[in-house]
Order: sequence, then structure tokens, then C-alpha cells
Amino acid sequence: MVKICCIGAGYVGGPAMAVLALKCPAIEVAVVDVSRSRIDAWNSDRLPVLEPGLDAVVRACRGRNLSFSADVDRHVADADIVFVSVNTPTKASGIGAGRAPDLAYWESAARVVASAAASSSRSRSGTKKSTVVVEKSAVPVRTAEAMERILVAHGGEERAFEVVSNPEFFSEGTAVRDLLCPDRVLIGGRDTDAGRSAVRAVRDVYAHWVPEDRILSTTSLWSAELSKVAANAFLAQRVSSVNAISALCEATGADVSDVARAVGGDGRVGDGFLSAGVGFGGPSLQRDVLCLAYACERSGVAEAAEYWRQVVAVNEYQKSRFVRRVVSSMFGTVAGKKVAVLGLAFKKGVGDTRGSPAVDVCRGLLGDGARVTVYDPMVSEKQARKGVAARVQVARDAYEAAQGAHGLCVLTEWDEFRALDYRRVFDGMQRPAFVFDGRNVVDAGKLREMGFVVYAVGKPLDDWLSKGTRN
Ligand code: ADP
Repeated sequence: MVKICCIGAGYVGGPAMAVLALKCPAIEVAVVDVSRSRIDAWNSDRLPVLEPGLDAVVRACRGRNLSFSADVDRHVADADIVFVSVNTPTKASGIGAGRAPDLAYWESAARVVASAAASSSRSRSGTKKSTVVVEKSAVPVRTAEAMERILVAHGGEERAFEVVSNPEFFSEGTAVRDLLCPDRVLIGGRDTDAGRSAVRAVRDVYAHWVPEDRILSTTSLWSAELSKVAANAFLAQRVSSVNAISALCEATGADVSDVARAVGGDGRVGDGFLSAGVGFGGPSLQRDVLCLAYACERSGVAEAAEYWRQVVAVNEYQKSRFVRRVVSSMFGTVAGKKVAVLGLAFKKGVGDTRGSPAVDVCRGLLGDGARVTVYDPMVSEKQARKGVAARVQVARDAYEAAQGAHGLCVLTEWDEFRALDYRRVFDGMQRPAFVFDGRNVVDAGKLREMGFVVYAVGKPLDDWLSKGTRN
């Protein structure tokens, strides 16, 4: 029986291994983590990751061929294939702060693999045991080389290791669906007999449920590593491209939705990820663009690094110009004024506020002295305060948030914000009542008829805004 162990029971490792266990009943899967509370949560009825369908998958396999454990060493030592799925955030301090990925967790996982595996270097039959180590975390290109060096330094003589890159591409909010039916599974390895055999071992696992033509397994290790950060960088770049156009639209009277439709209508460009808004967010897009830029810088291609950094710079510009627009529209000051914020999650369908542009907008408004009240259908009061600031107020619904407010900002594209009774919202607000739509979800024409002053990203400006203010 093949044994798989995954180091890191996070947003990626947990769902990915649960689906793997579901689809491969003959494989024993252990997910391990240094965080005992994470493991306890995975073993409880309240999973630490909220994804549609995930509870059912975990319930079907936990106790059968899926386990969650804090006994990292034992499960790593037993495994034939070890997935490494730990966090690789952008460094907060030290060399490369704000630019380079922090590989401390990743290195500690590599050391765990090396020492646990070395302690059980002989298989039951007494032959030299080999382990396939799979990078699942997003890592800078050529990280596998460092992994190999750590493994060799810790007893590679007694035990054979082969490092394979198999990055995860699922989207938050649709993780289970994406994992069950992926667009592609990418597996990169060394072009040697041992490398090809390690890739085959991982390929055989996915072949239990993924059609052959979707498994890309002839890629080099470096291409696979680079593909993950490049894929996220391309997504971020599309958002920044359309957002850069949105700023020009506001300055010239063009409408970004019309432009995006015309541009995306060209099959070579495609129409996905072309919605203008207050900026991209989430735990990985910015991290991966910065990781790519840093790799360019370190590899001596400074111009390419600068190109990718501009993707992040435009995103920062989009958030700060939104805050400036709110302040300038409301007579240049929000000090002491109540501002309602609808939506804190970085996209609809998730309760995740990591890297969310809404968080930065809230902080910007608080910085200018506004009294901010937020409402998000999936973000708890505790999480909102922790994510933004202790002094943010949290409402139970959109109407309560808007009650008595001078301005209302829509920052996540939840469907319920399209369907609000805006007449009721208007009645509860101060005059003039401002709506700042950071996601283009409201019907601006209708709201103007009701008496709102409306700003929508990339749309022709309301008379009030174009006369009274300059952004
Ligand atoms: P991701 O979104 O990439 O899955 P998370 O932060 O959700 O990232 O999860 C990463 C998990 O990896 C965390 O639960 C963390 O405790 C765990 N982890 C980090 N380093 C190690 C390690 N050396 N051994 C075991 N688990 C680790």
C-alpha cells in the first residue's frame, strides 16, 4: 500500500489531500502539522478551512484512509511520497523584506523530511528506501535545488530522495470542485531515470481521477516551479491592466465595462479576469508577483523585475485612489463621519480577508478620521476587528451599516449587495448620500434617480464628482 504524508494542514494541504484520499481509497494519506490546534480542528466537526463540499469529503475519508496528526516525524518517516505544503509568505523583515518569499517554514519542513526519513532509511525488506518529495507550496524557481542539498546533507547516502514539483492551482471558494476536476495537473521532475520514475509515481496517484490529457508531466522541475508563480502573476497583471484603463476612463468619460467587453471579445485575449475594481487581493496573488519579481532581480533581469513590480504598484494605486476619491467627494474630509463598508472578503464566496483591498481601504478611511462600520456576510466581528483595526464597528446587515452614514462603499461583489433595497438604504443615510462602488455591482443610474451621488470604478463621473473634485 502506498503511503502519502503531507506536511502542512493549511488552506492548500488540507483540501488537496482530502480529495486525494477520496479518489484513492487504496492509498493511506496522513496530513501533519506542527500546529496542534490546526490538527484538532481538522479532527473536529468545525474544519479550519471553509470550502463548499469539503466537510462531506473529509467525513467520507477521515478514519478510513485519511488522518490528521501532529506526529510529524512518524508519518514522514513512513511515507513513500511526502507532499510539502507549508506557507511561504512575503518576508516582513530582514533582507528582501516586502519583496522576497520567507522560506523559513519551507526549510524547516525540508529538515523534518531529511531527519525523519534518515531515521528509517531501511524498508522492512532491508533494502534502501526511496522517498519522493513533492513541492506543493508556491516557491521561487530553483527551490528544489536547495531542497535536494538539505536532503543529501542529512543522509542522502542511506536513502534516495527525488524532488518533484506539483504546484496547486485551485481557487479559494471552489477548491473541492477544482480539485475534483482540475484544468491541469502539473508535475515537473529531473530528466534522469530516478526523476522520471518519481514523476510517474505522482502521476499514477492523479491518474485515479484526472484524465491523462490533463496531467502535464513532461515538464522540467524549474518550469513547474516557475509556472505556479507565473500563472498567478498573469492573473494579477490582467486585473492591474484593466484597472489602469479604469483610471483613464474616469479621466476621459469612457466606460471601462464597455472597453473590457470589446478587448475581451478578442479570442486571443479572452474575457476572464477583466473586471475593473478596487484591486486584487487574497493570500497569493501579490505574494507570487513579488516572488517572481524577486527571482528576476536575483537572476540579473532587472527590467523584467521592474515590469512585474508595476503590477503591484498599480494595485496599490487603485486602492489609494479609491480612498482619495471617497475623501475628495465628501468635501475633502471624512473626519468624524460614519462611512459604511459593504464587503471585507477579498472576493465573493469566501470569508477570507487576507490581502483584501477592502482592508486597506478601511485602514485608509480610518487614517483620515472616518468612523467605519463594516458588514460582510461571511466575515465575523472578531475576524473583522483583527483584520482591520480594533476600532472598526461591525454591523449585522447592510442596512444597519448604512444607518446614519454619509457614505457607503461596496468593496466585495457579493450578490446580496446588488439586490439591496437601496431606497431603504437611502432613507437611513445622511444627505448628500454617497455610494462608492468599488466592484461595479450597483445600478448607478437607478441609484442616481433615487438621489444618491454615485462613484463607480472606471465609469463616467457623476456631475457632482466631476465638477466638485479632482482626483
Ligand atoms: P497554505 O495556504 O499555503 O496552505 P497555510 O498557512 O494555510 O498555507 O498552511 C500552512 C501550514 O503549514 C500551517 O498550518 C503551518 O502550521 C504548517 N507548517 C509550517 N511549517 C511546518 C513544518 N515545518 N512542519 C509542519 N507543519 C508546518
